[in-house]
Amino acid sequence: MKIIIIGAGPGGYETALEAAKRGIEVVLVEKGNVGGTCLNEGCIPTKVMCRSAEVLEEMRSASDFGVIACSGTEEMSKIDFGKVRQRKSEVVEQLRSGVETLLDYKLITLLHGRAVIKDAHTVEVDGNEYVSDYIIVATGSSSASLNVQGGDLPGLLSSREMLDIDHVPSSLCVIGAGVIGLEFASVFSSFGSRVTVLEYCGQILPRFDSDLAKRLKQSLSKRGIEIVTSAAVQSVSVGDEAYGRGQSYRVEYEFKGKKEELVAERVLVAVGRRPVVDGLGLENAGVEYSPKGIAVDDNMQTTCTSIYAIGDVTGKMMLAHAAVYQGLRALNHICGQSDGIDLSIVPSAVFTMPEAASVGMTEEECKGKGIACKAVKSFFRANGKAVALGQTDGFVKIVVSDGDGTGYKDGQILGCHMFGPHAADLIAEMTVLICRKSTIEDLSSIIHAHPTLSEVFRV
Ligand code: NAD
Repeated sequence: MKIIIIGAGPGGYETALEAAKRGIEVVLVEKGNVGGTCLNEGCIPTKVMCRSAEVLEEMRSASDFGVIACSGTEEMSKIDFGKVRQRKSEVVEQLRSGVETLLDYKLITLLHGRAVIKDAHTVEVDGNEYVSDYIIVATGSSSASLNVQGGDLPGLLSSREMLDIDHVPSSLCVIGAGVIGLEFASVFSSFGSRVTVLEYCGQILPRFDSDLAKRLKQSLSKRGIEIVTSAAVQSVSVGDEAYGRGQSYRVEYEFKGKKEELVAERVLVAVGRRPVVDGLGLENAGVEYSPKGIAVDDNMQTTCTSIYAIGDVTGKMMLAHAAVYQGLRALNHICGQSDGIDLSIVPSAVFTMPEAASVGMTEEECKGKGIACKAVKSFFRANGKAVALGQTDGFVKIVVSDGDGTGYKDGQILGCHMFGPHAADLIAEMTVLICRKSTIEDLSSIIHAHPTLSEVFRV
């Protein structure tokens, strides 16, 4: 069997590796660097910056822990941004070469070029045609643009450009309080930028639990990040004021019926991402798609039975790990195998300080589906390890079914929404319990080591 995979991001390259392990011949086509957005200009480089911000914050609070790192506290709190950028490039390079080594496998042919689908089984790459039994499209997404006057001004930054910025701006306006906007707001606030976030919706992280969003907003505000929700950005223009390196932007927005404006040295546009569907030749094979993504069924199969689509390009969950498991599902379907992957239970994490994480349904979602539920909560301030770490800000909310007739066991864990120290790692336990259809009773019978952050789940 032979499969052509278009796009070598986490979805594409992991599917290629798994297919090759199963003895399937793979042609993997990539127009940029292997690793895709996640490795080259997304998850990984941002996490390098998050780590620098975390170290910096720890140094700033070192004296609270009885640690005198050096006599001049002024010196301690400085960031060498050139070194941060260098480390970011080194980490990305190290991981990318690791992926390249893995892909150097006898059954995988990696082609560098732009792929266009010619028909249900044929893909053209730079003038050469390749034929296969199946095609998997994993072309990802790109930053959405800001559809307001001045939204295309030169110098406005996307997340990719933000990662390449050569200095810490004195002030930063972030448009969009989604995952990307908040992660950069958190990092650059630590680095010393005066950060203002403008969010169109009434809460930050609109798709997250509203309680979590409210408390995380308070926590980020306490760190000095100004967050304005229900702010409808109306225009962006070049400002008269000279800020930082002599450049500024004026952002006009409507808030509570009044026109407001703010001036910042740089503006980050983080208003979502759009599936990359144009120029792929999907219409040549009768694949149904729209600007919102390629239509797929539960097996990631498109309207053309020999073509599958996985990851951001489907417009479903835009998360690297979702793409990987969607790829596995597509491959299993191609191989005629069933699997136990539940693609509806996908944990997600926001790498702000403190971190936020979520898995499963929110109370709002349960209500929308007519599922009776209740929430149990616990707080990091009552957790011994969190107190010792000096990181007590945060809470856990576990959503459980309430009574029979909900289609779930009474007390079955349906969702977990949390923020606090190491929330992104801690959410794994809740993911397991939800996948295993466990109840809150089951959770209370599981021993958690003391003193650990995981005891926060002893609700
Ligand atoms: P998003 O959809 O999460 O958030 C975009 C935000 O911008 C929303 O809150 C939206 O209401 C707001 N917005 C839209 N237009 C606006 C306007 N004109 N003015 C003000 N606000 C406006 O998108 P994102 O943060 O750009 O992230 C894109 C995708 O990438 C998401 O699906 C996200 O899950 C994924 N991602 C995940 C991670 C992670 O898992 N840690 C990190 C980065 C990105």
